[in-house]
Amino acid sequence: MGASPRDVVVVGASLGGLFAAAALARPGTRVTVVERDELPEHPAPRAGVPQGRQPHVLLHRGLVAMEQLLPGVRDDLLRAGAVALDTGDLAWLNEPGWATPVREYGVVSATRPLVEHVVRQRVLALRGVRLVQGTRVQGLARGVGGRAWSVDTTRREGHAVVRRERLEADLVVDASGRASRLPLWLSELGVEPARRHKVDARVGYATQVLELPHDRVAAAGVVVLQRAGARGGLALPVEGDRWLVAGVGAGELRPSRADLRTFLGLVPDPALAQLVDAGHLVGDVAVHRQTGNLRHDYHRVHDWPDGLLVLGDALCCFNPVYGQGIAVAALEAVELRDADASGRLGRPGGARRLLGRFASVVDVPWGIATGTDLRLPTTEGRLTGLDAAFSSWTQELTRLAAHGDRTVQRSLSAVYHLAAPPTTLLRPRLLAHALRARVTGVGPGVPRPQILAPAQARRDSAATS
Ligand SMILES: Cc1cc2nc3c(=O)[nH]c(=O)nc-3n(C[C@H](O)[C@H](O)[C@H](O)COP(=O)(O)OP(=O)(O)OC[C@H]3O[C@@H](n4cnc5c(N)ncnc54)[C@H](O)[C@@H]3O)c2cc1C
Repeated sequence: MGASPRDVVVVGASLGGLFAAAALARPGTRVTVVERDELPEHPAPRAGVPQGRQPHVLLHRGLVAMEQLLPGVRDDLLRAGAVALDTGDLAWLNEPGWATPVREYGVVSATRPLVEHVVRQRVLALRGVRLVQGTRVQGLARGVGGRAWSVDTTRREGHAVVRRERLEADLVVDASGRASRLPLWLSELGVEPARRHKVDARVGYATQVLELPHDRVAAAGVVVLQRAGARGGLALPVEGDRWLVAGVGAGELRPSRADLRTFLGLVPDPALAQLVDAGHLVGDVAVHRQTGNLRHDYHRVHDWPDGLLVLGDALCCFNPVYGQGIAVAALEAVELRDADASGRLGRPGGARRLLGRFASVVDVPWGIATGTDLRLPTTEGRLTGLDAAFSSWTQELTRLAAHGDRTVQRSLSAVYHLAAPPTTLLRPRLLAHALRARVTGVGPGVPRPQILAPAQARRDSAATS
């Protein structure tokens, strides 16, 4: 590959692919984004993103990275109906109790199709970016005539292939998600396989739309973290005065399509059931169970080819309970933009080195997700040594935060939002707080936050009395 790629093919036009296209779009570069789905004109769920009907939050750090790639995108989202909220205003129940309410991080909440729609419009308006939709990438071959890659694509109508096309590219970016076929394509090219890591807590989601005006709810949203032996769930406000309400459980406690209301009634706190009773559930229940953490060590493959990259869920996907996937894809795309702009990507070995940078982006969220999941009995494997000690320490800090310790709460949130490294949790100041709590005892537990707005709560209690 030369110093700057002229022809780029991105596999997949979901968020990872769109961020990659935004990162690479610049004069002299043609970016072709190939997507197997026909994309809807208006925000709507689609087959290629089966998680699209589940609730999605954009972690603060992810939103910042999205702004770096597409300045003004947060305002675009808000204009399209997304809801701005401060994560400190969420009613958030952890195992030891309710999180202390403190000013935390500005995020936006919207349905996944709306986020993708807004980002897609922005990216397709960039010069040099084009979309080839309804077309599947079938495989990669070494390029000819000085090009790094030939990308084989097919377009189908029904079962019939109606067009085959070979796209020549200097750089290919795989952003085809959890079901990426890159391991197969690499083996066909004779490239050494990458090691895979899988940590699956067997978490399932069941989600339905709730019609309930946002101003009838006092909390910005509700999260009841699912934990060993107990159901959980969440409710987040989305565009159009609606909410997405999800039941979340692991193993035998995974929710089914059958009855979300009953499931939510079995969650240890009634907050979610209260919301559902105050509004109207509409449409089908969408169930999703592909949630295991899965990571590929492509950066360790010695004969990794130049001009080939992979990001987003195709590189690493997480248990979605921690809301990290989109943020990680955006952070990787910022790395991609910087490596491309500086010429580092175009140097021999540049793609593999950049995959090493992506691996550093992934390390922290991977540690957070797997460190928590490995405590669950539904996950195979256990934490050992330092990881187990760190996990216990985090639990202890969560307990302090559930008893009103604001400093601890802020530190936990910073790490959770990928705004500070996990080593933040080892600062002497936090250690001092834990020691003081050992000596003097913890303060009273954080009181249960108000869920419904006062007028609504009065109407509800009048109706039930
Ligand atoms: C239940 C659930 C809840 C989640 N909640 C959150 C959350 O709150 N916050 C968050 O940040 N993340 C969340 N995530 C994760 C988030 O959905 C993903 O991290 C994100 O969508 C990854 O984007 P991606 O572009 O890498 O992959 P995907 O979104 O999976 O997209 C892959 C794209 O590639 C296309 N494609 C696949 N194969 C081919 C091919 N051969 N040729 C052409 N096109 C192809 C597909 O059609 C699709 O458009 C959640 C995930 C789940 C499962």
